[in-house]
Amino acid sequence: MQSIDRITVLENLLRLPGKSGEEHEVAEYIIQTCLGWGISPSQIHVDDAPSRIPLPCTTGNLFISFPGSCSGPQILISSHMDTVPLCAGAKPVRVGDKIIPEGLTALGGDNRTGVAAMLCLIQAIIVKKLPHSPLVFLFLIREESGLQGSRFLDPKRIHKCSYGINLDGGSCIEGTIAAVGANRFSVEIQGKASHAGVHPEKGISAIMVAALAMEKVYRGGWFGKVTHGGKTGSSNIGILSDSAGGAVGQATNVVTDFVRLKGECRSMDPVFMNDITNAHQMAFEEAAKEIPDHEGNCALVHFQKQCEYQPFTLSRDCPVISLFENSVKALGKTPLLKNGRGGLDANWFFEHGVSSLTIGAGQNQIHAVGEWVDLNQYQGACELLEEMISKAAT
Ligand SMILES: [Zn+2]
Repeated sequence: MQSIDRITVLENLLRLPGKSGEEHEVAEYIIQTCLGWGISPSQIHVDDAPSRIPLPCTTGNLFISFPGSCSGPQILISSHMDTVPLCAGAKPVRVGDKIIPEGLTALGGDNRTGVAAMLCLIQAIIVKKLPHSPLVFLFLIREESGLQGSRFLDPKRIHKCSYGINLDGGSCIEGTIAAVGANRFSVEIQGKASHAGVHPEKGISAIMVAALAMEKVYRGGWFGKVTHGGKTGSSNIGILSDSAGGAVGQATNVVTDFVRLKGECRSMDPVFMNDITNAHQMAFEEAAKEIPDHEGNCALVHFQKQCEYQPFTLSRDCPVISLFENSVKALGKTPLLKNGRGGLDANWFFEHGVSSLTIGAGQNQIHAVGEWVDLNQYQGACELLEEMISKAAT
């Protein structure tokens, strides 16, 4: 059995490409490494989530299951294999207690640190004979493209898990116990073209409807950081385009007849998340009525909204929280609990009935050129996982 040190595992993983939808080389590395450690092929399963994901995928979610060496709860341990496109061609270089990219790329510490920490835990189970309850290791696809892997997995594969530990973040002493949900929306405004100099009154400017609607959203306090009646959330309109995604409008002398806008709304509160989204819809519908042509015709507004993922908050008595806190303390550190402002695979695990706490494993400045890995946090996460797993075993 070939033993690999923790940092080498991480460096090997950081060298592999694997943007969202193209995680096959990472999955293959995990599978071959585990087979090399003597894991039976019967413990390994690649699922059929790609048949449900509406985007191309070169592999499915990878499950590696262990019956317990002791009794205790079945635990889901997860991280995502994919990285953002900015990581393409990344070459990891070790500098002291950090790993940085050699060139002008991101690094992929988000989330190969989590994948590596999981592989190190598998090695500890086999080599150090770490006592453990039944475990399901889940290496996910397509997190960065909208939490697709966790959304479309078969819930039956994880429904026996009492709780989960998800790895995706920076600090190994910070446990994320709640995260926002998000709605996405798109608005199509169909106005009417006319010569802007000769017959402007015969036109209906989709641009002006959009502008007036955005003014209403802004003045109403529904844009950016949103606070109403003690509830908080956020919203953004990120894209304005024509129907094909190109520039809005064709010429300065034509009243612009079409605009498409795309935006999002987030909140920890699912009702408030919808309130923010509905405020946007009302603003667009009202604005359209305020800008008629000379015959009283108004623009048509087609507003589409979709829940991308629901917010979640773990119950304070969920055993994974005390397991995390006690394990961090046992390692001589002080645990912190926090809420996440972005979506996590844990959002979908919660929907599937598995409460999961998310911890970090050393990623820093993610999704940016100059992303780096903090090796102390990474090693800390590896130690914490071992502590948590052996503590949970009875
Ligand atoms: Zn991530």
